[in-house]
Amino acid sequence: MVHAIYSPVGNKLTCKNWETEALLRLFLNSLDPRVAENSNELIVYGGRGKAARDKHAMEAIIRELRQLDTDQTLLIQSGKPVAIFRTFPFSPRVLSSTSMIVPKWANDEYFSMLEKMGLTMYGQATAASWAYIGVQGVLQATFETMSEIANRYFNGSLKGKIVLTSGLGGMGSAQPLSVAMNGGVCIVVEMNESKINKRLVNNYCDIKANTVDEALQLAKEAAKKEQSLTIALLGNAADVYCEMVERGFTPHIVTDQTAVHDLLNGYIPSGLSLEQAYILRMKKPKKYIEMAQETVYAHVQSMCMLQDRGAIVFDYGNNIRGQAYKAGYEQAFSFPGFISEFLRPLYCEGRGPCRWIALSGDPSDIYKIDEVILSEFNRDERICRWIQFVQERIYFYGLPARTCWLNYHERRQLGDMINSMVASNQLSAPIAITRDHSEGSTMAAPTRETEDLLDGSDAVADWPILNGLLNACSGAAMVTIQHGGGVGIGNSIHTGMTAVADGSLEAAKKLSGLLTIDPGLNIIRHADAGYEKAESMLHKIGLKKPL
Ligand code: NAD
Repeated sequence: MVHAIYSPVGNKLTCKNWETEALLRLFLNSLDPRVAENSNELIVYGGRGKAARDKHAMEAIIRELRQLDTDQTLLIQSGKPVAIFRTFPFSPRVLSSTSMIVPKWANDEYFSMLEKMGLTMYGQATAASWAYIGVQGVLQATFETMSEIANRYFNGSLKGKIVLTSGLGGMGSAQPLSVAMNGGVCIVVEMNESKINKRLVNNYCDIKANTVDEALQLAKEAAKKEQSLTIALLGNAADVYCEMVERGFTPHIVTDQTAVHDLLNGYIPSGLSLEQAYILRMKKPKKYIEMAQETVYAHVQSMCMLQDRGAIVFDYGNNIRGQAYKAGYEQAFSFPGFISEFLRPLYCEGRGPCRWIALSGDPSDIYKIDEVILSEFNRDERICRWIQFVQERIYFYGLPARTCWLNYHERRQLGDMINSMVASNQLSAPIAITRDHSEGSTMAAPTRETEDLLDGSDAVADWPILNGLLNACSGAAMVTIQHGGGVGIGNSIHTGMTAVADGSLEAAKKLSGLLTIDPGLNIIRHADAGYEKAESMLHKIGLKKPL
């Protein structure tokens, strides 16, 4: 049992400088019981995505960050601090490599064995890079996906439309709210009643249903009145989807966000209660995986059948198609992934999920930045609509944070604005600026971010590595290199980056270069893959591609 973990707040340092202070606060914040999905086991989100290997590693990280000098760099190997080197003030204070494994050995079985031996840790994406901010972190990508579907198929609104999905975990909970933001009705299936109750309290869902009948009745009534409604249905996703097929009911949109990338720890087989699943997982993991494979086969088969009947169906970044394919369902890839289908045009523009966190713990710091964004970016209707919406709907828990998809110029401008606000004491403490790993140049994942690229370079993983190296030599406070986030072991390589706006001239210098790396490399990566939109952006922003 780990004592409840909370980040320090306010503007007094507990470390030797604001860069290490920021990293300490972000680390502790990602483990805060209000933020993490299972703080006791150091699990932040996404199945078993952790921020530290174990309790001893966690304590050592806290201790070392508190003592770290401005010219030292702490190395973290899969959640365990392993070395401190004398470097330079401009160098990152923390470098971390998580879940990396030699490709030939990169499968679930081998990884789990190493994990059991205490040699590695599964870090998901933002868990191991200490950049997790709760559901808000993925909300805009989910919102943009639903908006794109609304624009493409339903005249710009999901009013009167029913979305069927599942999973109310750390990321999955963004789904019902995103559907509501687009005016639609969402049925989201979840096996764990405590997760449902948590999402009802936090306003991510409106109402709980215990049976398919009840959920369908509520959904149909709301859709008829064109009212938005989010219904959490207690049940097993695969069972519910199969029942929808049998009943002849076809939702307009179907997807899934259980943590199925990890069959053993993130997905519950059909026929088991939550408790039975827990016991079987411990006692007979092989049997558990067999049952989970049968379930995911039926789950994806029913999604394909709903697609045949006219539903818009897509994989929401959890590798559900890959798992069903592995389980023997050859048609698993009949529906697309959400990035290749809906989000890639944004990547080609260099837009990506930037986020910032108020180290003071004071929500008014975030609201002040919101106001500056609304005034400085007032010509961008999309950004303003987003900021106004999250101001109304998002409650802060843990350190207050904001996320927003910004492009090349906007990110640099934002860094500059925030640093000036800290320098002129408009904000009560420095701000950490970081991002999700989900961008074209920061994640190589052939069934997600890099699926179906024009030039076939889906599995080429040089780009995230170049991204991490460049961030490390451009003044980031922390750079991480990771494997297996989102879609599981063997399926992705990605990097994280955190910078700190402490109001100093040095920070201004670092931020002005640093915040152009992710969007710039994103554009270059897509131009290199043959996307015309990215090629024209390249010229617009004056970036050079030597070949
Ligand atoms: P999580 O572990 O916090 O939650 C998963 C939820 O699924 C749990 O609440 C669990 O009870 C539920 N569940 C599992 N099996 C079920 C079943 N058969 N029926 C009904 N409910 C079931 O995971 P998360 O953080 O919400 O992430 C979900 C998935 O999305 C992961 O695979 C993750 O890697 C992936 N992901 C997607 C994105 C994205 O942008 N779309 C981003 C990050 C992660």
